Amino acid sequence: MTTIPARRSKLTAKLRIVPLGGLGEVGKNMMSIEYGRNLIVIDSGMMFPESDMLGVDYILPDWEYLLDKKEILRAVLITHGHLDHIGALTHFLKEFNVPVYATRLTRGLIEVKLKDEQMLETTNLHTYTAGDVINIGPFTIEPYHVCHSIPDSVGLGITTPAGLIVHSGDFKLDHTPVDGWPTDQAKLAEFSRRGVLMLLSDSTNADQPGATPSEAVLENSFHQIMREAPGRLIIATFASLISRIQQIVNVAERHNRKIAIAGRSMVENTKMARELGYLTIPDNMLVSLDEVKNLPPQQVIIMATGSQGEPMAVLNRLATGRHHSLQIQDQDTVVLSSHTIPGNEETTHSLINRLFQRGADVYYGPVAQTHVSGHASQEELKLLLNMLRPKFFVPVHGELRHLTQHGKIAQQLGMPKSNIAVIENGYPVTIDEDQLEIGQRVPGDYVFVDGSLVGEVGPMVMNQRDGLAQSGFVTAIAGYDRQAGRAVGQPRIITRGFVYVPDADDLLSRAEDVVRATASVQGGTGPHKVEEKVERALSSFFYRETKRRPVVTVALMEV
Ligand SMILES: [Zn+2]
Ligand SMILES: [Zn+2]
Repeated sequence: MTTIPARRSKLTAKLRIVPLGGLGEVGKNMMSIEYGRNLIVIDSGMMFPESDMLGVDYILPDWEYLLDKKEILRAVLITHGHLDHIGALTHFLKEFNVPVYATRLTRGLIEVKLKDEQMLETTNLHTYTAGDVINIGPFTIEPYHVCHSIPDSVGLGITTPAGLIVHSGDFKLDHTPVDGWPTDQAKLAEFSRRGVLMLLSDSTNADQPGATPSEAVLENSFHQIMREAPGRLIIATFASLISRIQQIVNVAERHNRKIAIAGRSMVENTKMARELGYLTIPDNMLVSLDEVKNLPPQQVIIMATGSQGEPMAVLNRLATGRHHSLQIQDQDTVVLSSHTIPGNEETTHSLINRLFQRGADVYYGPVAQTHVSGHASQEELKLLLNMLRPKFFVPVHGELRHLTQHGKIAQQLGMPKSNIAVIENGYPVTIDEDQLEIGQRVPGDYVFVDGSLVGEVGPMVMNQRDGLAQSGFVTAIAGYDRQAGRAVGQPRIITRGFVYVPDADDLLSRAEDVVRATASVQGGTGPHKVEEKVERALSSFFYRETKRRPVVTVALMEV
């Protein structure tokens, strides 16, 4: 048991929660819970970009709200090891070096990321376990076990001076989970007896009727696929779906297939989960990618990353023939064991097409049951609401349509509308005198990460990338005489991705005329001012002529 002393405030404190990510979207979950001069954060996730966010690697929550609250930030509590809950943690800790609490497996997965960033030594990591009681300032934290698609997931009971908050984490009520450890309903009943002030509950599947199927149903599908696959099996899933990997191992054992793991993140996660005892793979079953070549194809399973068509992941490199040691061969069967993240449909479909082109058979969502969700559907959500009977309710984790649906479900169960806050990122909720108030929005925008540039890629840059992808670019270079205020010599026009140059002589020579004509200003004007004017003229010229908007840049060299 760990205790961090509270700092008391003389003012009457109020309970305030501010969602900083994951409300109004699927991904980058982050919630701030504040009471007086004490603040804790739950999860610190990242999100993969939608296909219209060109060239962005991933997206972080906008934690600007916390910047002037560094002094009162006590800890980050992590619910489980998925990237939409831990993926932003290294970035976050660079800004706020506060204690991090996570369960054993989650901690292991976090350590992998910290090691990559050489931050392991400087980070203050704590392990908590379902059933623990931890005091952090005025908060008493009780992690409880929940079922999800990764082992060692927890929800959190958080006792505050204003009352008990329950945060569900990501959960489902699977009665036959792969690890045999169902959601702790006894603990939920205990919370209920104590009285729940506010419930924050996972809304990812709030628009799905019924209950989410158990992970156990996949066993049959995998069994059938393994029996029928004539050659190698390549199974792609998320690197963090440890439960799925375990399930495939279990079935593979019965079919006498060996398993090789491809893709750095999956290799690392598997290694960590095995060391910690969350994944059981017999030693003689695990083979290297090189050993695969010496085995009969019908004895091989390759587990890989890249089920979303991520360009650098193993599966995409196989589909495009760019993997250093593996190729798709005849009689290969590829299984995509994951859902397609909204926005990734196009890339996933083209991935599947490419795999077919190379001669593989492909099993994916609509044609076979190769994935079940890790999130509760409507009947399970109702059960949780009914069990806890919270006074206030804030649906979390989901797009606005999911949150709204979840709010409606609570109303159907008899909760007054005024006690339900359906809100997106950045809207603070204050509990004051038994009333729920939604305040003015704090910043909650996207922070884009592109390679090593954090937050420098704004909407402006995104627009330019959009333009580049749609219509290419045109660069005009000309000499410029400041005294005379005009272009001199022959302008040069360079273009890529806009028009096929050999066929566009006429268009480009008229563009040169536009440069000459518009680069004629009053003598003494600096080249930068004139460049902008020429850019505008060229843009509208190209739009008039082609109805397209290439990105236009002009460089005038003073002579
Ligand atoms: Zn999750
Ligand atoms: Zn999640």
